[in-house]
Amino acid sequence: MINSATIFLGPPGSGKGTQAKVISSKIGAKHYSTGDMLRDAVKNNTDLGKKAKEFMSKGELVPDSLILSLINEVFLRDNPNRFILDGFPRTVNQALELDKLLQKIGRPLTTVLYFDIPDEEVVRRITGRRTCTKCGSNFHIEFNKSKNDGICDKCNVKLILRDDDKEATIRNRLKVYKDSTSPLINLYKEKGILRKIDASASIDLISESIIKFIS
Ligand SMILES: [Zn+2]
Repeated sequence: MINSATIFLGPPGSGKGTQAKVISSKIGAKHYSTGDMLRDAVKNNTDLGKKAKEFMSKGELVPDSLILSLINEVFLRDNPNRFILDGFPRTVNQALELDKLLQKIGRPLTTVLYFDIPDEEVVRRITGRRTCTKCGSNFHIEFNKSKNDGICDKCNVKLILRDDDKEATIRNRLKVYKDSTSPLINLYKEKGILRKIDASASIDLISESIIKFIS
């Protein structure tokens, strides 16, 4: 089996998390989301998890060095031949440090998939989400309607638009994303490993083009 070390890069709402799940099971790759890795480490109360928890409980960002140690630890444990990393790196500095780490463990990056999507499509996807306050189920006013308008199918409770999903919040996140992450696109383009995906296409179509790129 060919080694593949892939990063999924893209703004919130670009569907990269969903694709990472679909693709990893299709090609037998490990899917690492740094958000999940952090939550697992905290839940399992590992040394790194304890340190991360200190920052998270104060509402502070977990430092790059800690996330890199976590990736290092998990990669040494799993020794994955094929993996998809999702949610990291987000800055040029993180990317350079990650590169060093992956070189050291003999898993240099083979592909960076950039999920390209217009801002307006992201806003449409995210502001259309409706969430049940009781069970947490998600619906969408266009793509995944509940049977009764504004009511959860499972518990008959009113659905809400979460603060995180409001337009002003999304536009702000998109701006932060662009400021910090856009330089990464050029970095990986110069390395010759960047592949652009049209993330406004259908889930199936996107999966097809990703598989073409990484296998
Ligand atoms: Zn519900």
